[in-house]
Amino acid sequence: MDLILFGMQGSGKGTQGKALAAKYNLKVFDIGTEFRKEIQMGTPLGLKIKDPVESGHLVDDEIVMNVVEDVLAHVDPNQPLLFDGVPRTLSQVEKLLELLTKFGRDAFAVNIKISEEEGTLRLTKRRICPDCHGIYPPSYTADTCEHCGGTLITRTDDNPESIHRRIENYKKQTVPVIKTFYDRDRLIEVDGEQPIDVVTKEALEKVGYLFN
Ligand SMILES: [Zn+2]
Repeated sequence: MDLILFGMQGSGKGTQGKALAAKYNLKVFDIGTEFRKEIQMGTPLGLKIKDPVESGHLVDDEIVMNVVEDVLAHVDPNQPLLFDGVPRTLSQVEKLLELLTKFGRDAFAVNIKISEEEGTLRLTKRRICPDCHGIYPPSYTADTCEHCGGTLITRTDDNPESIHRRIENYKKQTVPVIKTFYDRDRLIEVDGEQPIDVVTKEALEKVGYLFN
C-alpha cells in the first residue's frame, strides 16, 4: 500500500512523512527534492522548472506526472511508496490513479490538517538549513542546524506575498484533491496542530492497519 501525504505548507508533513516512512518501510518520493536535484544539476528539466519552483508557483502537471511515471516504472512493485508534494491538482490525481492501476499499486491519502491561520504563522516564522534542507519552527532558537551545523536562513520564498500565494494555491487546488480521496473512502486525517510527537503518534496509529 502506498501513502499520499497531504498538509498545508507549515503543517510539518515532512517530519511526519519521515516518521511514517521509517515505521512502515516506505520509500519517500518527494517531488520538491526531485525538482531541486534537477535544478542543481542544471538538466533541461531543471532549467524549465527553476523559475516556478523558486518563486513558489506550481510546475506544469505534465512535467510533474512525467517525473512520477518515471519513478513508478523503476521502483520494485513490492516497495511501498510515500508520495509527498504530489498530486496537487485534480488533473494530477486523475493521472496518478491511472498510473497506480497501470503499475498494479494502490494508495491511501493521509492529511496532516492545520488551519490557514496556523499555516501562515508557521511559514512566516520558520527557518531552513540551506545545506540539508532541515526545517526549523519558531520554537527553535539556535542559529545553526542541529543535524549538520549549517547556518539557518529564511527561505527566499517565505515572504508574505509568496506565503499568501502558496496558501491560496493550496486551498484552490489541493483541498479539492484531498476531497476526491475522501469521496473514495481513501482518506485518513490527522490533527496537525498538536505537539509534533503527538501528531506522529496519531499518524502512525491511524495508518497502522494498512500495513498489517
Ligand atoms: Zn542542516
